[in-house]
Amino acid sequence: MRIDILSAVPRLLDSWFGESILQRAQAKGTVEVVVHDLRQWSTDKHRRLDDYPFGGGAGMVMSVEPIQRAIVELKSQRPYNEVIYLSPDGELLDQPLANHLSTGGNLILLCGHYKGVDERVREHLVDREVSIGNYVLTGGELAAAVLCDAIIRLIPGVIGDETSALSDSFQDGLVAPPDYTRPADFQGWKVPDVLLSGHQARIDAWRHQQAVERTRQRRPDLLKGEDMEGN
Ligand code: SAM
Repeated sequence: MRIDILSAVPRLLDSWFGESILQRAQAKGTVEVVVHDLRQWSTDKHRRLDDYPFGGGAGMVMSVEPIQRAIVELKSQRPYNEVIYLSPDGELLDQPLANHLSTGGNLILLCGHYKGVDERVREHLVDREVSIGNYVLTGGELAAAVLCDAIIRLIPGVIGDETSALSDSFQDGLVAPPDYTRPADFQGWKVPDVLLSGHQARIDAWRHQQAVERTRQRRPDLLKGEDMEGN
């Protein structure tokens, strides 16, 4: 899988992709993330990417031409499944969307800046728009990093124990049950007996019941089809 990120401030993403699981995934060749400076596709002599909005008003708008040139060039080099614009009014990123994108092949992620992009980019060049939450960031880079992290950790071979990602919150419509590690008794704060029992079926049942209970308390909106009575 290859993810190309188009940004006006590519250095913002250096440390994110140079560390930890994302760096190891790239070193292993599982995924390739390439961050591009959009300015290389600007034909302006000062490499500008933005211009004044038609109709007036505060703020600058990212021009369509450099973005179009970037996308056309990348698409001439390899196939892409989707071009995604990170946008506060896009579809909200959730686990099913991350699951879908992790199996879907190459992606282009477009980061906006200033007031955002010329509307014609959204109309003609973008397949999907994704928001990471109902708040406004300065630029799309953090949102692209969040989206990449959510996708890449699901690709087989990226995190040590693949079943771990599958038991995380939201994978089965529930939040995750509580986890404990040694010591079994810390200053009188004890781990639930069932986890020390060695009885896997009882442990699995307890975890499911805990996940349902937590979801009921913290995220009842997720419990559409679940047993709301906890039986
Ligand atoms: N004028 C835009 C609006 O009101 O919707 C906000 C533009 S914002 C200052 C600049 C860029 O940051 C956007 O083009 C987008 O790429 C990115 N961005 C901001 N908030 C975001 C969010 N919640 N999710 C994804 N991207 C976001």
